[in-house]
Amino acid sequence: LTDEIPSEAESLIRAAALLNAYRHGGKAESGAVLGRVLAENKNLRSLARQLAPIVERIVSEVNRLPVSEQERMFRALGPQSVKEEQEEKKGVKEEMKRLPPLPNVQRYDRVVTRFAPNPDSVLHLGSTRAIILSHDYARMYSGIFILRYEDTDPRLKRSALELYRYVLEDLEWLGCKPDQVFYQSDRLEVYYEYAKKLIELGGAYVCTCSQENFRSYIIKGEPCPDRNVPVTDTLLRWDRMLNAGYSEGEAVLRVKTDLNHPNPAVRDWPAMRIIDTTKHKHPRVGSKYRVWPLYNWSAGLDDHLMGVTHIIRGQEHATNAVRQKYFYSAFGWNYPEAIHYGRLMIEGGELSKSKIERGIREGVYDGYDDPRLATLRALRRRGIVPQAIRRLILEIGPKSSDVTVSWDNLLSYNRQIIDRTSPRRFAVFGPRELHVMGVPEDQLRVALPRHPDVPEMGAREFVIRKEKDGVYRLLVQSEDLETNRATRLIGLMNIQVESLSPDTKPALARFLGYTPEEARRIRAKAVQWLPSEGNVDIIVTMPDATKDRGIGEGGISQEEVGTVVQFERLFFARLDSKKDKEYSFIFTSK
Ligand SMILES: [Zn+2]
Repeated sequence: LTDEIPSEAESLIRAAALLNAYRHGGKAESGAVLGRVLAENKNLRSLARQLAPIVERIVSEVNRLPVSEQERMFRALGPQSVKEEQEEKKGVKEEMKRLPPLPNVQRYDRVVTRFAPNPDSVLHLGSTRAIILSHDYARMYSGIFILRYEDTDPRLKRSALELYRYVLEDLEWLGCKPDQVFYQSDRLEVYYEYAKKLIELGGAYVCTCSQENFRSYIIKGEPCPDRNVPVTDTLLRWDRMLNAGYSEGEAVLRVKTDLNHPNPAVRDWPAMRIIDTTKHKHPRVGSKYRVWPLYNWSAGLDDHLMGVTHIIRGQEHATNAVRQKYFYSAFGWNYPEAIHYGRLMIEGGELSKSKIERGIREGVYDGYDDPRLATLRALRRRGIVPQAIRRLILEIGPKSSDVTVSWDNLLSYNRQIIDRTSPRRFAVFGPRELHVMGVPEDQLRVALPRHPDVPEMGAREFVIRKEKDGVYRLLVQSEDLETNRATRLIGLMNIQVESLSPDTKPALARFLGYTPEEARRIRAKAVQWLPSEGNVDIIVTMPDATKDRGIGEGGISQEEVGTVVQFERLFFARLDSKKDKEYSFIFTSK
């Protein structure tokens, strides 16, 4: 430090760097640290230029520390750090409460919302916006949250029995358990009954035009010849539709709208069509029905019949509200409040249902939980916790513009949560044998915490012995070693690396001492290590599906499948399976 810079500057910078690292998963950022120091210390502002290199140095020192050590040091700063942490937690809670009110709630006895997926695929991150908003609004107003399976296309959007179960599992995992569950495939008679009613009201007709012919009428804003068939005859034609008098593609039921509506897609849209279910069996009801509703008919009817008061769905459904309002007004019903939010896109996550399905069929992906996918099953398998997804979604809220969220955001929320519960473990990738000479003791017994802040989680014990030739044999990551570098083997001892060549032979190091204070004083680089025996083999599936092999401490065998561990200094990963002495993990995040 030069004379101009006050002596407390370095400790202020270190505190800011630790805080910044703590908030960002162990990596402080120089710009942010300098900004904070200057914002809080007016007297330093004129010294920004001289402070910059000091900030750089301290930030890189802090970033080299394991997260657990950063946290210990951060907490050691005392009351200020505790206050920061509490503010951070309070901030998170307040964000969760900040959903804007729903419109016109006072008009209804009880708020009813619904989530209505087609179980022809699994849910992915893009679905969570509809789920969490619909569920949370129902809870916010002590209302009802409905799950409705829209499984009415056995030909093109065929559902599969296990997918119904997956949807429910995913909802429960997200903490959005539905109050009521409906299957549209159980409700065909209802859709028939209202079709008949609408025909009787003169609001629907059976159209036998080819698609091309119908289009030529509708484009001109003219009725097709079927539109003006008298109601009694239309009812007969409807019966014929139901009773196999027409084949697939020969007739549809159309809802009368406005032939001059500016959007041709709104003009007399199809409500029911014939599907040959002897060829395309429905997974739940087989060949029992041959006339099936199209989306706007079944969804629109069900929203009314199930008493849905607020429909919270994507902007792409806005035209559907326009279509459905025609039969609502024919029946004298009020349309529910519709809240249309923008599309949710995530950088680098595959969200397209058809691409996911195709990829699985073609064997590109292992299954719905392939770590490259943004399906909820894949996120869960990877160690993403539902609270992180919830925070991401509630932060965006129901705004109508399209939103792109970054994968990094989700991972950083996730890291803040799992960091508090994940046991710490040592693992080494690219191992190199290290021989430490000059250790006075013949045996060392060290107990490292499974979690630095949660003593109840217990300790990991290592007992290592000096060998006959007077050295301690350990394993470290080859890339962590630098010749003549003071190095701290975390929790064990400080050493000076003396020789790294030839790289086919063990690296040699000399014992310096035991204490972390000494390590700090000599600016030792902290690295993880393993004893030479008693370790386990680990395989980590990375986000691009490649596999990294490494060695981990033997205590990993005590972790249960499903546990997210932090490999100190490396990354978080979820234990996916155990087989013999091999432990498979899925990479969670840095
Ligand atoms: Zn027609």
